[in-house]
Amino acid sequence: MDATFVETVESADSGEIEALPVPEHYRAAVLRREEQTIFDGIPVADRDPAKTIHIEEVPTPEPGPGEALIAVMASSINYNTVWSALFSPVPTFAFLDRYARTGGLAARHSLPYHVIGSDLAGVVLRTGPGVRRWRPGDRVVAHCLSVELEDPEGHDDAMLDPQQRIWGFETNYGGLAELALVKANQLMPKAAHLSWAEAASPGLVNSTAYRQLVSTKGADMRQGDNILVWGAAGGLGSYATQYALAGGATPICVVSNDRKAEICRDMGAEAIIDRSVDDYRFWRDDRTQDPREWRRFGARIRELTGGEDVDIVFEHPGRETFGASVYVARRGGTIVTCASTSGYVHEFDNRYLWMHLKRIVGSHFANYREAWQANRLIVRGRIHPTLSRSYPLAEVGSAVDDVFHNRHHGKVGVLCLAPTEDSGVTDPSTRSRHEHAINRFRRF
Ligand code: NAP
Repeated sequence: MDATFVETVESADSGEIEALPVPEHYRAAVLRREEQTIFDGIPVADRDPAKTIHIEEVPTPEPGPGEALIAVMASSINYNTVWSALFSPVPTFAFLDRYARTGGLAARHSLPYHVIGSDLAGVVLRTGPGVRRWRPGDRVVAHCLSVELEDPEGHDDAMLDPQQRIWGFETNYGGLAELALVKANQLMPKAAHLSWAEAASPGLVNSTAYRQLVSTKGADMRQGDNILVWGAAGGLGSYATQYALAGGATPICVVSNDRKAEICRDMGAEAIIDRSVDDYRFWRDDRTQDPREWRRFGARIRELTGGEDVDIVFEHPGRETFGASVYVARRGGTIVTCASTSGYVHEFDNRYLWMHLKRIVGSHFANYREAWQANRLIVRGRIHPTLSRSYPLAEVGSAVDDVFHNRHHGKVGVLCLAPTEDSGVTDPSTRSRHEHAINRFRRF
């Protein structure tokens, strides 16, 4: 995209942007359908996500009814992009084809390529018929919930819609690109005190952490709760830690190195467990867990809490930690899970669940309302982005590789049309009040 286009998009008013011709093609991070079997037979841990992500020119889609075309200033890497690039557990083309079979405009999503990415901050370029709330020129972020809402099942909680999909993972035209196509009801206001890259980084993980921990549909966190947060300086965990602290709860932060421990302290957490130092071995071998290690972990938590067990476990590592998570939750406590990074077939000792009346709650992304609430807290400066570094669009593969190998902390950003990591701030005075918190993850 040429510099004039970018300048106009960033600074022009609604009328000027409407007059700006829409480019016929744009650069995007894509997976290729023809490559979807290249990792067959290779263990997931040995696959190279940078190998399957290509930066290519693709044709610009026309926004249909209720849709919007966005000039993407910045995006971020989510773990779903890692799974997409590894073609694990299944190639995402299966999702696109299934969506396309529902007919109508959905048929456009099945293509020889998949534009990936589930976050964006940018400017509305065009809106499709029937869109009234948003206009060209609006500065927005997009959450990644794509729903049809034609079935009554989703009317109370959009996450229960049978046609619920994650945009940029289970749909095409995602955010790791210069342009993106979204349903207009995915759009939310961009925080004026944040740069494009900062604003793009909370989206998916912030909304997920909000539902998982705070919402009544998740763990329904209360003041005074002790909350065990796995990966407390990672994507999801860096928001869970903030929600715990902001809501009067006590996070017990699990991390794997000094720098991440320092970040958690800087956020205001006091109870921190460095799992690389304590070296918990919850599994003796591939098939057998070691309850003595669960007990050692539980004892360490009690040391940090003054003898209390945790009310909530914020789970996502999955197989490796789940047995321990069920064990350490207090009587009547909640294990809330949204993922299984280390393996999705979990094992736990059910006696500790039923005898102690614990519950396991499944959680996935967030409904419209929850996503809006989570974004509102970012806009109001109550919760802060956890951006640690950004890559240019051309280097999405390296960015994904960092996340896959756990070399990152917080969130990794991607500059799509934004010239620098700092561009996009329009409210410097609010920003100056939050400068320390906004830059926290970059300092370590
Ligand atoms: P992330 O940025 O990589 O953070 C995850 C953190 O978990 C890591 O920083 C690491 O922290 C910790 N961790 C990783 N493997 C671990 C293990 N075996 N044992 C203990 N801790 C481990 O990723 P994320 O964005 O937070 O996402 C985490 C998972 O949630 C992914 O599987 C992702 O697909 C999923 N997710 C699901 C949803 C949903 O809506 N269902 C939404 C977002 C993410 P330390 O090394 O410091 O301990």
